[in-house]
Amino acid sequence: MVELDDGSTAEGHAVLLAVGRAFPIDDLGLEHYGIDTSGRTPFPRDGRLRIADGLWVIGDPAGPELHTHQAHYQGELAVRMALGEDLKPDYRALPRATYTDPEAASVGLTLDQARETGLDAFELVADFATSPKGYAVQATLGHVTIVVNRATRELVGAAMACPDASAAIHECVLAIKAHVTVDVLAETIHAFPSTSRIFNGLFADARRELDEQGKPVAVAAE
Ligand SMILES: Cc1cc2nc3c(=O)[nH]c(=O)nc-3n(C[C@H](O)[C@H](O)[C@H](O)COP(=O)(O)OP(=O)(O)OC[C@H]3O[C@@H](n4cnc5c(N)ncnc54)[C@H](O)[C@@H]3O)c2cc1C
Repeated sequence: MVELDDGSTAEGHAVLLAVGRAFPIDDLGLEHYGIDTSGRTPFPRDGRLRIADGLWVIGDPAGPELHTHQAHYQGELAVRMALGEDLKPDYRALPRATYTDPEAASVGLTLDQARETGLDAFELVADFATSPKGYAVQATLGHVTIVVNRATRELVGAAMACPDASAAIHECVLAIKAHVTVDVLAETIHAFPSTSRIFNGLFADARRELDEQGKPVAVAAE
C-alpha cells in the first residue's frame, strides 16, 4: 500500500514508475522559424500541428498525448495540411491502451473531465467478473465504465480494465467519433459471451436513465 500526497492510499501488487520522456528537438534548425528551443516547451503541446509557416510537428512533441497511433494520425493530417487542406485534428476519440494483464483501455472523457467541460454527464459502471465473459475466464476483477452526455444522449467517454479491453474499446472510439447516441448503441447486438457484450447492458441502462429523467415525477396524494 502506498500513501499519496493528497492523503489517499492505493493498493496493488506492483508499482509502475513512469519516468517521462524527453524529445530531441535541439539541432533541428527550429530557430530559423523563430522557435526558441532553449526552454523545456518551445511550442504548445496541444495537438495543433502547424507551429510555423510551412512547418508542422507530429508525434510525441506535438501532444496532446503520447501514442504511436496518435503520431500516425497526425502524420497523415500534416501531409494533407501541407498540401493545402483546411483540417483540424480531432482528439475526442483518441484511444489509450495498456497491455497489462488484465488490459486497461479508455477513450474520451472521465466523468470529472466531462463535468469540468460543462457537460451534464453521468457514469455507469459494470462489473466484469460477474459478466458472462468474466465467468467464462474465471475473472476475479475488472470493470467497464461509460460516460454519457445527457443533453445529446451521446457517449463521451469509456474506460475498461478486463481481458480484450484494447480491442473492445474501439466500439466506443467509433461511437464517440461518429456522435452515436446510446439509443443506437443500446439496440446494437453484441456477441455472447464476448467482453463487448457488457456494453449491451450498460447502453440499455443509460437509455433507461435518460428516458426516466424526462418523465414527470410522481407526487404522492395527500
Ligand atoms: C517503452 C515504450 C513503450 C511504448 N509502448 C507503446 C504502445 O504500446 N502503444 C503506443 O501507442 N505507444 C507506445 N509508446 C509510445 C510511442 O512509442 C510514441 O508515442 C511514438 O513512438 C511517438 O512517435 P514519434 O514519431 O513522435 O517518435 P519516435 O517513434 O520516437 O520517432 C522519432 C524518430 O526520430 C529519430 N530522430 C530523432 N532525432 C533525430 C534527428 N536529429 N535526425 C533524424 N532523426 C532523428 C529517432 O531516431 C526516431 O526514429 C511507447 C513508448 C515507450 C518508450
